[in-house]
Amino acid sequence: MIHAEPFEARLVAARPLSPFVRELSFERTDARAFHFQPGQWVNLVLPLPSGEVKRAYSIASAPDGSPRFDLAVTRVEGGAGSELLHQLAPGATLRAIGPHGLFTRDPGDPAPSLFVATGTGVTPLRSMLHASLRAGAAPHLWILFGARFEEDIIYREELEALARSSDRIRYEITLSRGAPAWPGRRGYVQAHVPALYRELAAASGDPAPHVFICGLDRMVSSVRELARNELGVPRKHVHVERYD
Ligand SMILES: Cc1cc2nc3c(=O)[nH]c(=O)nc-3n(C[C@H](O)[C@H](O)[C@H](O)COP(=O)(O)OP(=O)(O)OC[C@H]3O[C@@H](n4cnc5c(N)ncnc54)[C@H](O)[C@@H]3O)c2cc1C
Repeated sequence: MIHAEPFEARLVAARPLSPFVRELSFERTDARAFHFQPGQWVNLVLPLPSGEVKRAYSIASAPDGSPRFDLAVTRVEGGAGSELLHQLAPGATLRAIGPHGLFTRDPGDPAPSLFVATGTGVTPLRSMLHASLRAGAAPHLWILFGARFEEDIIYREELEALARSSDRIRYEITLSRGAPAWPGRRGYVQAHVPALYRELAAASGDPAPHVFICGLDRMVSSVRELARNELGVPRKHVHVERYD
């Protein structure tokens, strides 16, 4: 069990992942290792003109014993916290508290899993995926990512490369408002979960793969219901994290 603690973090790098998502790489200013479990999140204390607010962000990178960690923040229209983070200049420091959260996956876990995410909900799953690969575990890990438009797909090249590197990793994208030329899946993630889950069970030889679901509440609740009621996934095999 890793206990949450307050610490100071410096923004050391930032890059756009899509028109609305900015990746921010932070480092603890005390140079101590930041220990966390893949899937956990940190609270950032944000100095707004109206006072300090805390906002939670999933850790997008895998734990590697360094002081560094990455976050990916969606700019929410009229959202003061996310707007501040989209403007934060490298070199700036913030207070952070963490790690927090029970939406975790042991890097050495051999159980096959279907990862279902929309938007920046893919970040804790990215951490789990890298951690599993680093641990040398080779379970079937299949990612189903949903976005509205092609330009909203984040970490695409990286995840495509990982999927090419291993026949146990599969990466599927579905767009709810894809352009006519989009050759891939369409619609919400919900439409694709049942068939992918059954395929994963067959491919892995495990009748009850785990399902990890992360994103906004409407999607998470809907996929969770589907997993439990339509697919009969055991309660303990369904893991969820909601952003709103
Ligand atoms: C456990 C946890 C982990 C989270 N991890 C992330 C993360 O990795 N990346 C990230 O961008 N956000 C994440 N969030 C959401 C984040 O904490 C903030 O709620 C978000 O940045 C909005 O804050 P704000 O101050 O800009 O807007 P606010 O004024 O606080 O909120 C405005 C509205 O935005 C909605 N909202 C919150 N998150 C999103 C979103 N991602 N997309 C669209 N609408 C949203 C809220 O429901 C609210 O109605 C996480 C939340 C939780 C609880």
